[in-house]
Amino acid sequence: MKNIVILLLSLALSLAIALSLYLDDYRLIPGGKISWLHKERETRSRLLAIPILLYHNIDGKGPFSIDSETLRQHFQLIKDRGIRVIPLKELIQRLEHPAPYREKVMVITFDDGYRSMHDILLPLAREFGYPVTLFVYTDCIYNRSTRNLTWDLVRKMDRMGIDIQAHSISHPDLTQISKSGDPQERKRLFEEIYLARRIIELRVEKRVEYYAFPYGRYNLQLIEMAQSSGYRRAFSTDYGSNIITRDNFCLKRQHVKSSYSLSYMDMLIR
Ligand SMILES: [Zn+2]
Repeated sequence: MKNIVILLLSLALSLAIALSLYLDDYRLIPGGKISWLHKERETRSRLLAIPILLYHNIDGKGPFSIDSETLRQHFQLIKDRGIRVIPLKELIQRLEHPAPYREKVMVITFDDGYRSMHDILLPLAREFGYPVTLFVYTDCIYNRSTRNLTWDLVRKMDRMGIDIQAHSISHPDLTQISKSGDPQERKRLFEEIYLARRIIELRVEKRVEYYAFPYGRYNLQLIEMAQSSGYRRAFSTDYGSNIITRDNFCLKRQHVKSSYSLSYMDMLIR
């Protein structure tokens, strides 16, 4: 009798697990990985398609620089929608070991290295508790303009929760350089990709794992160079979200323009 009860209980449990897996549209396959039963649903499910926002300066000047009040409105919108902002690192781990999210999540990134990252972004990100990633190009930090960050500020921001990553040395269009095939140009690409990582690692005293292509422009050769330079992932400005079951090396980012209305932002993140 006792054996029959145990048997029935284990049957019921297996049935419940099988049913929950079916309802979630996925099943486990050997190696602990997940296979999605309905491929086409991946792109439609917001729980699988994760947007990464890309911002630049916060001075309200130019097509890619929003003002601080608008940035606050964006951050508040994300909070109001109940979307969890996750660290970039967490998304990468999820891509490597795919599992469905139970809530809407997204990632926030900034590029270049303006002083506003310290003066405006840092306090705002801390107020909202958002883990933001900042991709810096090293010439921007070295040139000592009051518009830009210094290495001391970059280090301070990294310690205070703004994850610093690499965005080249001098911010050239790498696809133009890679066209020539000249050995000197190849050396230049090596510097812009590999050396940028090493400089930031030495200056910030941390491991740098992600590379944002200047202007978001890339090709196969540049992706291979980023891989052989030790980066775990690279980032473009290709439009769209990232599907967590597709383990792409080069991830997309939604470039936020200053002309975007709040309702358009709402559409981008929902
Ligand atoms: Zn840039």
